[in-house]
Amino acid sequence: MTYDKLKIGQTIGIIGGGQLGKMMAQSAQKMGYRVVVLDPDAECPCQYVAHEFIHAAYDDMAALERLGNLSDVITYEFENIDAQQLKTLTASYNVPQGNQAITLLQDRLTEKNALQQAGVHVVPFHHVPTIEQLDEAISTLGYPLMLKTRFGGYDGKGQLLLRSDQDLEAARALVTAQECVAEQFLSLEREVSLIATAGQNGQIVYFPLQENEHRDQILFKTIVPARVDQTAAARKEVEKITQAIHFIGTFTVEFFIDTTGKLYVNEIAPRPHNSGHYSIEACDYSQFDTHILAVAGHDLPSNITLLKPAVMMNLLGKDLDMLEDQFDTHPEWHVHIYGKTSRKPARKMGHMTLLTDDVNQTEQDMLSLFEGRDA
Ligand code: ADP
Ligand code: MG
Repeated sequence: MTYDKLKIGQTIGIIGGGQLGKMMAQSAQKMGYRVVVLDPDAECPCQYVAHEFIHAAYDDMAALERLGNLSDVITYEFENIDAQQLKTLTASYNVPQGNQAITLLQDRLTEKNALQQAGVHVVPFHHVPTIEQLDEAISTLGYPLMLKTRFGGYDGKGQLLLRSDQDLEAARALVTAQECVAEQFLSLEREVSLIATAGQNGQIVYFPLQENEHRDQILFKTIVPARVDQTAAARKEVEKITQAIHFIGTFTVEFFIDTTGKLYVNEIAPRPHNSGHYSIEACDYSQFDTHILAVAGHDLPSNITLLKPAVMMNLLGKDLDMLEDQFDTHPEWHVHIYGKTSRKPARKMGHMTLLTDDVNQTEQDMLSLFEGRDA
C-alpha cells in the first residue's frame, strides 16, 4: 500500500503511552498532527497530551483496530507489543515501520543471530533454553556471565549476573521460569549509543554518538558528544545493521566498549531511546522530531547538528526530593517530568538536560548532587 505524506491536522496513532509516547506526541503536535494513544495504564503519561486516549491492553485487537480507524498512520513507542497483531494491522492500516524489525528485535536470540550474520561484532553468547544448556554456557563462556531472558527484558529486568557456582541456584530458577540467553560479562570501559532515523525515501540521518553510564542496569546519565573517538566505527556497524534490518523512523544501537577498546553491539531498540532525550534541547531536531517526520512520510534533514554539548541525567523516583529541593534555584536545568502517578525509587520519573561548554565540570557537579541525594 502506498500512502501520501501526512497533512496538517491528520492523526498519528501511537501504541504505548509512556514517556517516549508523550515526547513523540509533543513533537507531532508541534507539527500540527493530532495524536491518539493506546495504553493499558489509565494514568499513563501520554494520555494527558493525546487528543484521544484508548485505554486498552496492548493485545486487545479490537482496540488496536479502533486505533487504526482513528489514525492516518500508526507507530509505537516500545518494542514489546505483539508482533503478530502488528502484522495484522499492517494489512489494513498505514504502519510504515511494519512488523519485521520488531519481530526480530523483541527476541534477544534472533536479534543476536541477525547481528552476527550481518557481520556485526557482538558479545559471545549462548542460547539457554534449559538447565543443561546453562551448564554448557558456563563451560564455554566461563564466569562471570550475564543471563538475560530471551523475551521482554528492559531496564535490566530479567537479568542475572553469575559470578561463580554460588549463583547457580538463582540462575537455574530464572532458566526454569523463562528461556534465556547467556553472554560473557564484559569489563566495560564505556557504553555508547548511536541513534539514527530512517526515512521512507531511504534517507538515514545520524545523531551524534552518546556516552552512557548505567547504574543498576538503568541509564543514569548520558554525555554528548561521547568522549571517545569511535563515531566512525559505530556508524560502520550501524550501516551493516541497516543492510540486514529495514528500519523506518528512529532506532537506536547500544554499544559496549571493553577495557581493550573493542566495540561490541549490545542491542538495538527500534524506537527513540532514553539516551537521546538530550536532543530535545541540544540538537536542531530531536529524536522524536525526526521520528515523526519519518513516519509521516516527509524528507529528513540532511544532518543533525549538536548545538551545544550536553549532560542528561535521568530522574528516578529517588531523585525527585533532591530535584524539588533544588530546581527553583537552577533555571539552567531543562527538566522533564513525565507525569507518572506512583513514585517508586528506581522508576524513571523524568530527566533533565544541561547544556554546557564544559561537560567534565558539569558531570562532576551532577555527580556530587546525585550521589549526595541520600546523604
Ligand atoms: P536492557 O534491555 O535492560 O537495556 P541490556 O542488555 O542493555 O538490557 O543491559 C542493561 C545494562 O546492563 C547494559 O547497558 C550494561 O550496563 C549492563 N550489561 C548488560 N549486559 C552486559 C554484559 N554482557 N557485560 C557487561 N555489562 C552488561
Ligand atoms: Mg539496553
